[in-house]
Amino acid sequence: MQLNSLGFPRIGRFRELKFALEKYWRGEIEQSQLTDISRDLRKSHWQWQADAGVKLLPVGDFAFYDQVLTLSATLGAIPERHRGDAGIDIDTLFRVGRGRAPTGNDAPAAEMTKFFNTNYHYIVPELTADQTFEIGYDQLFEEVSEVQALGYQAKPVILGPVSFLYLSKSVGSDFDRLSLLPQLLETYQKILTRFNSQGVEWIQLDEPVLALELESDWQAAISQTYTALTEGDLKVLLASYYGSIAHQHSLVSKLPVAGLHLDLVTAPQQLSTFVATLGQEQVLSAGVINGRNVWAADLDNIAAQLSSVARDLKQRLWLAPSCSLLHSPVDLEVETALSPVLKQQLSFAKQKLTELSKLKILLNDADSVEAKAIVVECRSRRSARAEAANQQVIARVTALTEQDYERDDLFAVRQAAQRQKFRLPLLPTTTIGSFPQTLAIRGLRSRWRKGEISLEQYNDQLRQVTRDTVERQLKLGIDVLVHGEAERNDMVEYFGEQLDGVGFTQFGWVQSYGSRCVKPPLIYGDVSRPAAMTVQWAEFAQSLTDKPVKGMLTGPVTILHWSFAREDISREQIATQIGLAIRDEVVELQNAGIGIIQIDEPAFREGLPLKKSDWQHYLNWAVNAFKLSAAGVTNETQIHTHMCYSEFNETIAAIAAMDADVITIETSRSRMELLNAFEDFNYPNEIGPGVYDIHSPNTPTVDEIVSLMQKAAQKVPVEQLWVNPDCGLKTRTWDEVEPALVNLVAATKILRRTL
Ligand code: GLN
Ligand code: ZN
Repeated sequence: MQLNSLGFPRIGRFRELKFALEKYWRGEIEQSQLTDISRDLRKSHWQWQADAGVKLLPVGDFAFYDQVLTLSATLGAIPERHRGDAGIDIDTLFRVGRGRAPTGNDAPAAEMTKFFNTNYHYIVPELTADQTFEIGYDQLFEEVSEVQALGYQAKPVILGPVSFLYLSKSVGSDFDRLSLLPQLLETYQKILTRFNSQGVEWIQLDEPVLALELESDWQAAISQTYTALTEGDLKVLLASYYGSIAHQHSLVSKLPVAGLHLDLVTAPQQLSTFVATLGQEQVLSAGVINGRNVWAADLDNIAAQLSSVARDLKQRLWLAPSCSLLHSPVDLEVETALSPVLKQQLSFAKQKLTELSKLKILLNDADSVEAKAIVVECRSRRSARAEAANQQVIARVTALTEQDYERDDLFAVRQAAQRQKFRLPLLPTTTIGSFPQTLAIRGLRSRWRKGEISLEQYNDQLRQVTRDTVERQLKLGIDVLVHGEAERNDMVEYFGEQLDGVGFTQFGWVQSYGSRCVKPPLIYGDVSRPAAMTVQWAEFAQSLTDKPVKGMLTGPVTILHWSFAREDISREQIATQIGLAIRDEVVELQNAGIGIIQIDEPAFREGLPLKKSDWQHYLNWAVNAFKLSAAGVTNETQIHTHMCYSEFNETIAAIAAMDADVITIETSRSRMELLNAFEDFNYPNEIGPGVYDIHSPNTPTVDEIVSLMQKAAQKVPVEQLWVNPDCGLKTRTWDEVEPALVNLVAATKILRRTL
């Protein structure tokens, strides 16, 4: 029984790759130093995998920027504007990924998008109608030689041609990307031949598109591809992940591939479906260890589920993580501050490899002393989990009734009460919450974390920043103010740190894109709010002015999506628990005199399942979790929500069902096109369509803002509209923010006269 690794995180357990990249980009180290550090990282990652018993070591999981981009380069598919004279090299990758590199000319970066339903962002390949492919970059071949020189066997892992085309976008003209398939296949064949000549035996081709509800032309492309690519001597392992591919069973079971990898964590039921039709020689790579979460696996249960398959398939069963370990933190061993109770429940990338080898012992040698110890360990871990339950939270969730999800009255009634109370002008102006997180603020926080200043001193300074932020907004003439979020490091971490049942690591970083990493909180237990989280800041800011100050919270769905969540209860249940905790905060804010409260849900859309047939179920519970968090207040209290990076065409009914009194969205880049969904739906509540692209350092002019809002007013009655930026302003400087908001207020004055 072999152990199969689909890929290891490249970033390094102390984010060595991140720091090397950023130094290189700043010109502080030479390219040779960057490649040295990268080689050392690959070496230790291969070593760890080999030590755990993995024979075929993945090549292609390392990337200087993104593995999809490395593949585009290998295929010679690099946009014209990023090419230099010297052919494709490492700097070319950086020009594509981030618009600039130490050599070559700056050019707008290629687009970046989330990889399926993960939080990893890939660089979208740009393909033209007359696109040609030819091997244009040798990194993958060099890494094969590199791992071989260390005495190991290489298994290249690359995205398959169909997924590559699916994830690409056509530029120049709109054409059918599948028309490029025959030519693309020829180049893949060349790549495979070259691996073969290097002595490679197995290649893994990843086709995560299989988990989608593919249209028939894309299905046909899968057949065509795997007929063509299995003609040579190389053994092809076709890998799918992130969801079930049982709906593609008749297609996939006919493919002449040497092996099949299935994600049995998200879709355990597909095991029997595919085992039944597995060919005599075909290998099954069973993805049974969750590659996307941080919890130690119940190995005894997994072994029980796999035992008959293991008996039947023998050598042909491979044990694997569900997907590449790219999505999990690197090494639990370096965590020194976790409670032992929590640490015992966890497993990061390096530990997941060990789990595979333990699973192998359970399957091969169930009666051994070692196997028995593994079973004991699993049982004690499970019972520790059960003991930690918070009965109060569980009882509260059980006692919920339909009424708890609804406001006292319908929107129209609430709107009248709120208008009476706040007497805001037509087109009220507001911002989305955060103001610049200056170097001074971040320095302050790090001094406090290091113990160089006391909590009292830290809070004192933050109050000064908040006072300054309020004064600036008053001077600007904004109608609904915010306190500025100076005290928050991150919109999820800030709440996670204050909620019971949520924990934090020191080094649990996961790559998000390029050199960017995130450190998601760990939701390990029942979630509750032991004390107020934001009230003192909102109260303080409100005490400085008669204008309303919006309370600012992160919503339950977003907290859930941006965390590593426990798996012993459903995501719906977790969202409900968080919803209750946020509800408590909302009510306490209201009681402290905060009349307007925003509950941010920027991650609402990204939680959508891969298959459309699963959408409704998700939307139902996600909407409910939000409503639960919002519904504890009186009619007079105005609830806002905020979403960005969203497209609303297919989810507008759910957005309306959330029933927030006001929703602010990101619309400036789309030039208000995103409002069409609201227009078509006759969305009844109030909307603040963003008029300031906060991702750009540019200042929007008065004219631009006026024209954007005029467009908005053609789609939505002006009485329903607010004027605000696209999103929070924390990444901008005051020098950028102030003139932009001066223009926003000036434009609003014009609009009030003219609309
Ligand atoms: N209130 C948050 C802020 O302004 C919202 C951030 C977000 O939508 N990502 O920073
Ligand atoms: Zn936003």
